Amino acid sequence: MPPHYDIIIIGTGPGGGTLAYKLAPSGKQILLLERGGYLPREKDNWSSKTVFTENKYKAKETWQDKNGNAFHPGIHYNVGGNSKVYGAALLRMRAQDFGEVKHHDGISPEWPIRYDDLEPYYTQAEHLYHVHGNRGEDPTEPKASVPYRYPALTHEPRIQELHDDWQKCGHKPFHLPVGVMLNEQQPEKGACIRCSTCDGFPCLLNAKADSQVVCVDPALQYPNVSLVIGALVTRLETSTSGREVTGVVVERNGQKETYRADIVVVSCGAINSAALLLKSANDKHPNGLANSSDMVGRHYMCHNNSAMLAISKRPNPTVFQKTIGLNDFYYASAEWDYPMGHISMIGKQDFEMLKLGAPPFAPGLALDVAAKHSLDFWLTSEDLPDLNSRVLVSKDGNITLAYTESNLEAHTRLAAKLKGMLNHLGCDDHLLPTHLYFGKKIPIAGTAHQCGTVRFGHDPKTSVLDVNCKVHDLDNLYVVDASFFVSSSAVNPSLTIIANALRVGDHLLERLG
Ligand SMILES: Cc1cc2nc3c(=O)[nH]c(=O)nc-3n(C[C@H](O)[C@H](O)[C@H](O)COP(=O)(O)OP(=O)(O)OC[C@H]3O[C@@H](n4cnc5c(N)ncnc54)[C@H](O)[C@@H]3O)c2cc1C
Ligand code: SF4
Repeated sequence: MPPHYDIIIIGTGPGGGTLAYKLAPSGKQILLLERGGYLPREKDNWSSKTVFTENKYKAKETWQDKNGNAFHPGIHYNVGGNSKVYGAALLRMRAQDFGEVKHHDGISPEWPIRYDDLEPYYTQAEHLYHVHGNRGEDPTEPKASVPYRYPALTHEPRIQELHDDWQKCGHKPFHLPVGVMLNEQQPEKGACIRCSTCDGFPCLLNAKADSQVVCVDPALQYPNVSLVIGALVTRLETSTSGREVTGVVVERNGQKETYRADIVVVSCGAINSAALLLKSANDKHPNGLANSSDMVGRHYMCHNNSAMLAISKRPNPTVFQKTIGLNDFYYASAEWDYPMGHISMIGKQDFEMLKLGAPPFAPGLALDVAAKHSLDFWLTSEDLPDLNSRVLVSKDGNITLAYTESNLEAHTRLAAKLKGMLNHLGCDDHLLPTHLYFGKKIPIAGTAHQCGTVRFGHDPKTSVLDVNCKVHDLDNLYVVDASFFVSSSAVNPSLTIIANALRVGDHLLERLG
């Protein structure tokens, strides 16, 4: 029989992995359960064809949208979760994002904690995940207690030109905070070689600050921490009162196993965490575990994201492009009464990637020219939490993601803003939208920024988790991944997931004694 643990953490992404790192020195018996294995380190890690065309590292499963159409989600099951392939743009949410914000389509609700509650953990998160940045450049940046520990990544010449052109137009571009182990002053001392295959790719050198490299591997150095891979958690069992989780049911190598712990933390990613709770319905929790509010799975958000390619008049030979951002349209402004969003870059697109997003008749030569000239922007606008945008699970366990887009006007205006600037940025004034970032032209498959499905709050009627991310309905169950978000803001989610895991870690250390 497996031993009884103090704490079981299900999932090893930025939520679960960071929590394990935080709790490891406590000496408590900690078990990590991960459905995937280690992402193989191989030359294919850096092949656009393997990663984007063949989708070698993506989960093979199929989900359904609200109309019953099947799609392949852009999701990755492995130690480190989706952070193995993320772009490592690690931004703090803005202070205002924690309050109520008026958007064109409605209200982005306030969080039960303030920015100041999370600030110390943002600082710890930035240090832990090697975030390189420069404070004071981005006018929307929230106040931080200390400077970045690692200097901002320098811009390559074409991006420096973009920076200078933006400044000439009166804008305030900033160095994008990025979590890679690059040492530009003493390159021989850093693991990162600043290559062109980072955003969307695994790092062959383990030089990207992902959850496996910076959290799970170091946590496993402690004798009290163990990891079981290939362990798909299918169900959580409760005591007869329904107040405690008493068993974590796992399918591994075709066998059923049950693990037990005093405290169980679900951190499967926002969609799978909601699905696991829904699948764990029992007599005491007929609508799904922790779901007396009927809120589990609802309020799914994923950002309004677009990858937009501008064709630069001069070639763009940039290798590592993700060094710049622009938040001048993040808030309501004199130009529009509502926020539009955040502009940054994606990794430099190559011929192979462009081929994926192009119509079949696109001539290879044109794509080649586009690949050599493109400036590849990433636009993010906030989507709003909607009761009916939700994760549903069928009797046989299949996931339906019933998502309805929201706040699209903000996104359209952000794209128009960027388009309007292109002539001043040395580009042709047309933008080429591309969905290749997520591999397919199916917007709902872009689940990268999933959040909000098990939200936290003070009121058990309108939230699933309390402020410490413990579920209201049970005494020993927590959820520590992107599920807890109340709103999605318009910056990438990971740093907030990491900071929150560190915050919940402090609470758990106190609870465990
Ligand atoms: C291509 C790409 C680029 C991205 N770029 C950025 C970026 O630049 N900046 C940023 O902030 N964010 C980025 N993201 C998003 C970021 O990766 C996620 O926000 C983050 O990984 C979410 O962390 P999480 O802990 O909530 O979940 P995940 O990372 O999804 O981790 C969940 C873990 O749980 C495991 N799991 C799931 N179900 C079960 C189960 N039933 N049993 C056992 N284990 C289970 C999974 O295998 C996985 O390891 C990107 C994502 C992608 C895909
Ligand atoms: S840029 Fe650095 S961190 Fe990113 S994949 Fe290349 S070597 Fe790894």
